[in-house]
Amino acid sequence: MATAMSVSAVSPAAAAVARARTLVCVPATARAPREMAAELAAAAALGADVAELRLDRLAGFAPRRDLPIILAEPRPLPALVTYRPKWEGGEYEGDDEPRLEALMLAMELGAEYVDIELKAADKFMRLLSGKKPENCKLIVSSHNYENTPSAEELADLVAQIQATGADIVKIATTATEIVDVARMFQILAHCQEKQVPIIGLVMNERGFISRVLCPKYGAYLTFGSLKKGRESAPAQPTAADLINLFNIRQIGPDTKVFGIIGKPVGHSKSPILHNEAFRSVGFNAVYVPFLVDDLAKFLNTYSSPDFAGFSCTIPHKEAAVRCCDEVDPIARDIGAVNTMVRRPDGKLVGYNTDYVGAISAIEDGIRASQQTDPTTSPLAGRLFVVIGAGGAGKALAYGAKEKGARVVIANRTFARAQELGILIGGSALTLADLENYHPEEGMILANTTAIGMHPNVNETPLSKQALKSYAVVFDAVYTPKETRLLREAAECGATVVSGLEMFIRQAMGQFEHFTGMPAPDRLMRDIVLTKT
Ligand code: NAP
Repeated sequence: MATAMSVSAVSPAAAAVARARTLVCVPATARAPREMAAELAAAAALGADVAELRLDRLAGFAPRRDLPIILAEPRPLPALVTYRPKWEGGEYEGDDEPRLEALMLAMELGAEYVDIELKAADKFMRLLSGKKPENCKLIVSSHNYENTPSAEELADLVAQIQATGADIVKIATTATEIVDVARMFQILAHCQEKQVPIIGLVMNERGFISRVLCPKYGAYLTFGSLKKGRESAPAQPTAADLINLFNIRQIGPDTKVFGIIGKPVGHSKSPILHNEAFRSVGFNAVYVPFLVDDLAKFLNTYSSPDFAGFSCTIPHKEAAVRCCDEVDPIARDIGAVNTMVRRPDGKLVGYNTDYVGAISAIEDGIRASQQTDPTTSPLAGRLFVVIGAGGAGKALAYGAKEKGARVVIANRTFARAQELGILIGGSALTLADLENYHPEEGMILANTTAIGMHPNVNETPLSKQALKSYAVVFDAVYTPKETRLLREAAECGATVVSGLEMFIRQAMGQFEHFTGMPAPDRLMRDIVLTKT
């Protein structure tokens, strides 16, 4: 068993013994037996492989009366029967005897899987006394709601569970940080090599990737809820997302892993965009959200070639410059990396596609609405005002300067505006001064603060009166698609450029770095406009 913290690549031996694909299991958690039976049918309609019947969720459950209803033949899906006691995180509060008898009855009625907790496994085995039906697989499970033990402790736990006579080992732990999941991946990979069927999941948002990436390491199954709000464990994805968004059926030992590193990251639309783009060109890769607290620790842990590239968002774009082995000179000048790619030699190279995305969007917006000289950038010689001096502000200010604009930066923290001004050769303003700033006609304005972003859609960084001084207005905020700033700028007659255009273009730049292929322009646009 490997004990190093880093996740190693899936070995060819492990790949060779890879079992049939990882099953998608939907927990049925209804309070009434007939509703639970209906959930089985709904799970089948979603494309799931198995449904977990959570008997402990049933109100007033009477096994002899209710189990024949829930397990009635023909069943739309194989059934995994669980009757979880309170002491293992479930809802059943009574004695063990009737609980174990109900599970035995489920076996007699043809349940394909029965889940029993490790602490009750010996007792259950004694009750069964070797009479387990042939077609029923016994899952012996252990749940840890506090943390994820060391790889050695997890390996011991696997051995303990195997010793009970389990057909399938199940271990669920809790992530306190995303690097905890690496230990579960090590255990899965180890079990895959030894051909031990295992379900290994890490609960809560920081453990989310365990649920999506476990097929890469040969897990027996993963859970996906019937719909949002019906999760049986913290941060469980929906079965529909596992199947349709993350393309879980296609994930195998050779699948490359990409994702967006951020905190928070759950709201990001990048997984929708990149997974569909990967699928459209037949690129064997999956793109997941990485909720990361400590960037350096994350990159040291997930350092194998399988973790092939990352998008980087708030608050890690500046730390990413320090964490890369090499940084593209433009990204270094900007001081922010939003794209990291692992080269074949294992080195991480950082880029900034925000810069190209935003500047090309503004240039094209101007070209589409005004007569311009095709031989030079329409930004050349123009007065370009940037509100904000964070990652996006730096990218816009640097890019505009590169195109020959005269750049002015206005920021809440004036010192940061001054610093950026000195760095790129521009000047600085306070936000208050910006209200009456009108030295000339035809100015360009770029908002790079989060002001006006959902849910604060009534906020705007500049009054409508002040907006009258601008010929072109760009807003990096893209939720909502039309911000108050852009709406009022359009009402004042300005050419407006949406942050959505920047988002699409920076994502296309990332796609090209990740895959080495041209980005599917129309498809990515359609996805952003219709699905995000
Ligand atoms: P960041 O590095 O955290 O910078 C935030 C900037 O906004 C700072 O200059 C900050 O001023 C200013 N700010 C924050 N809250 C403010 C407030 N209430 N009033 C005035 N100023 C405020 O963030 P970032 O990465 O640059 O991202 C900024 C925005 O751009 C976000 O909304 C993000 O979603 C958007 N963005 C869009 C795209 C796209 O593709 N369209 C790409 C990247 C970013 P201080 O210096 O005073 O703190």
